[in-house]
Amino acid sequence: MSQYDITIVGGGMVGATLACTLASHDSALTIAVIDKAAPMDRPSLKDDFDLRVSAITRASENIFKNIGVWEAIKNLRVSPYRDMHVWDSKGNGVVHFDSADIAEPTLGHIIENRVMQYVLQQRLQSFDNIILFAPATCKKLIENEQQIVLLLDDDEVITSSLVVGADGGRSWLRQQANIMVRGWDYDQAALVAYVKTEKPHQETAWQRFMPSGPLALLPLQNGFSSIVWSTSPQQANELQDMAEADFKQALQIASDNTLGEIISCSQRAVFPLRFFVVDNYIKPNLALVGDAAHTIHPLAGQGVNLGLADAAALAQTILDAHKAAKPINSMSVLRQYERWRKADNLAMMVAMDSFKNIFGSELGIVKEARNIGMNTINKLPVVKNTVIKQAMGLTGDLSRFARI
Ligand SMILES: Cc1cc2nc3c(=O)[nH]c(=O)nc-3n(C[C@H](O)[C@H](O)[C@H](O)COP(=O)(O)OP(=O)(O)OC[C@H]3O[C@@H](n4cnc5c(N)ncnc54)[C@H](O)[C@@H]3O)c2cc1C
Repeated sequence: MSQYDITIVGGGMVGATLACTLASHDSALTIAVIDKAAPMDRPSLKDDFDLRVSAITRASENIFKNIGVWEAIKNLRVSPYRDMHVWDSKGNGVVHFDSADIAEPTLGHIIENRVMQYVLQQRLQSFDNIILFAPATCKKLIENEQQIVLLLDDDEVITSSLVVGADGGRSWLRQQANIMVRGWDYDQAALVAYVKTEKPHQETAWQRFMPSGPLALLPLQNGFSSIVWSTSPQQANELQDMAEADFKQALQIASDNTLGEIISCSQRAVFPLRFFVVDNYIKPNLALVGDAAHTIHPLAGQGVNLGLADAAALAQTILDAHKAAKPINSMSVLRQYERWRKADNLAMMVAMDSFKNIFGSELGIVKEARNIGMNTINKLPVVKNTVIKQAMGLTGDLSRFARI
């Protein structure tokens, strides 16, 4: 039987970032991280990429810098994007964001999930006050007044003052703790792959909105681009099953021939898309972060960025309480975290949901209004720069770990 101050269930991008942020700033806290997957091997750096990539904002980059993983991530492989070009397939609406407009070198970076996960896991294992249980599965949660007991499948018993659920959208911990979720299926799925294109991507994130859903082409290294094609589940499955030549042609047409011919294409995978948010991020001795608390449409690439902001905010709340000799699992401490992140996350989620609905509409008046809106934003530097800063995660109530 082992006793920890904090146990984090889920050592993915968000859970590992939370553990590293806590351990980087307080070596007295004892932390257990449990993940059902075994630690990863160093990813290959040849011309094969992870099918899962994330657009990482400046705020998330700052969080990675603060826990000492950014240089290692950068040295493995990242792809900066300096421009973002968004256009409507059903009109002349265009918005172009350029990092030079706000005197920044980049708008963000496209990073393979496996690169972030590998570097975070390496960092996590370098702390004396973090113990990683992986691969390990929890089989039972017992909630007591002052602590939570987790029973692992190998009968290891882990007792902690605070348990944090960072175990993704299907969170086991959330279900065991009877925390309710509200949401719906988007009736869309995202097809992901990476492709080599005839024309260079110019370090630009391209996104074309179609009534069936958005298609994003995100820049990778060596002339490759990652695609995230959101569409009806039926079309996503058809696209996945198509012969490669037919798929390449369909993609060239759907992307408006922007990057020319699709020269090569990786295997394809499909992910169902859901919108949900929990009623409560916390309960006595327990908190949720990342996809365990909320999932969002990938159209603006914000999901993991919101999760990393949760991790930074929860770490700051716990560290400040610990320094002030307050119990880190008390509801008054945990409520500060919930109040902080619930409103910010919901605002972003509702904005993304509205975008999805506005761009999915075939109504003439909506089409006209959105095209006028896009062209107006494109011509107003003040509005455009505010939108860029929001997309870079640099607005709102930032944790000190998300600033430099
Ligand atoms: C197609 C697509 C594209 C996306 N693009 C972007 C993007 O560009 N930018 C962006 O910000 N977001 C993006 N997202 C969202 C992003 O992938 C998620 O928000 C992110 O993966 C959530 O991270 P997490 O650590 O909370 O959960 P996860 O990544 O799901 O990690 C959960 C971890 O918990 C472990 N685990 C699960 N169950 C258990 C258990 N019972 N016990 C122990 N461990 C467990 C898993 O092994 C894993 O390590 C995209 C999502 C999709 C579907």
